[in-house]
Amino acid sequence: MHVFHTDSFGLDLPASHPFPQDKYRRLREMLQADPDPVFQGADWTIPPAATDDELHLVHTREYVAAWRAGTLDADRVRRIGFPQTDAVLERSLRSCGATLAAARSASRRERSDCAVYLGGGTHHAYPDRGGGYCVFNDCAVAARALQREGLAERVLIVDLDVHHGDGTAAVFADDPSVFTLSLHGARNYPRIKPPSDLDVPLPDGCSDRAYLDALDEALDRCLAAFTPDHVFYLAGADPHHGDRLGRLALTDAGLAARDRRILFLARELAASLTVTLAGGYGRIPDITLGVHRETVRQALSLPPIRPRRSGRHSPRRDTPSSNTSARSAPPDGLGNPIT
Ligand SMILES: [Zn+2]
Repeated sequence: MHVFHTDSFGLDLPASHPFPQDKYRRLREMLQADPDPVFQGADWTIPPAATDDELHLVHTREYVAAWRAGTLDADRVRRIGFPQTDAVLERSLRSCGATLAAARSASRRERSDCAVYLGGGTHHAYPDRGGGYCVFNDCAVAARALQREGLAERVLIVDLDVHHGDGTAAVFADDPSVFTLSLHGARNYPRIKPPSDLDVPLPDGCSDRAYLDALDEALDRCLAAFTPDHVFYLAGADPHHGDRLGRLALTDAGLAARDRRILFLARELAASLTVTLAGGYGRIPDITLGVHRETVRQALSLPPIRPRRSGRHSPRRDTPSSNTSARSAPPDGLGNPIT
């Protein structure tokens, strides 16, 4: 399976900057040194940068040109939270390129029908501006690229970062070919949350069981309305109870069970799958690294898509709970069957 990484393109932020810029290098080094055979069998790859033509599938020509020329206005720079530098631009282009490359790899079944990017999930970027450490919206650009290249028609974006996927929701607001699902902290950033196709706001302190019940219900509703052929998964580590920004209370086991649901859901749907890691701001950085490690480990352990017996999967819309869903995944890490 392809695992893309971009940490060699440093953001060069000042040491006092709150963004955890060392996380990605530490994670890659940790995984590459991990004796678990699934990590040793991965195909570690540095992606090409996204091109302007690819960015224009989502972003305005004015916004892309302003980044290229270094002329983005101060208000839009402030919203992003990164300085307008060549280093930030190059990393953002590579990050977008990584999710693109992962999506193409998975949808073409190059190494596997799943691929991972050790970053990405920059869901706060709108067509004409960024926000919240997001310059370009990688999953949105990759979704449109897959569609343009005939690699996917119907795309599901499952955004389980603790922050609402506002930019993604805005990009696909009028696009019935892309279904956007966001589970997020109701009181967390961003303040303005344009509607996704399905939004599940969660209270502060939300626990494993309440979260997983809400996710199961959301997936059933989603699949009753939509059958994807490609899934983007934003596997944020920031719903963890040890996250300094998340405000939720999930455990390692709860997040592993969450990952399991999405990964096996894609398998059951015979949909190719791109996994991005999105946010994670642990009070102790190793907490975040542990959550990301488990997400990648599970993705790398996924069995291949089984050949279809006949035609496309087509869920019955009247009885969503009887359809293909995360419920067919193996027992979760909480010791319960997924029901
Ligand atoms: Zn987040």
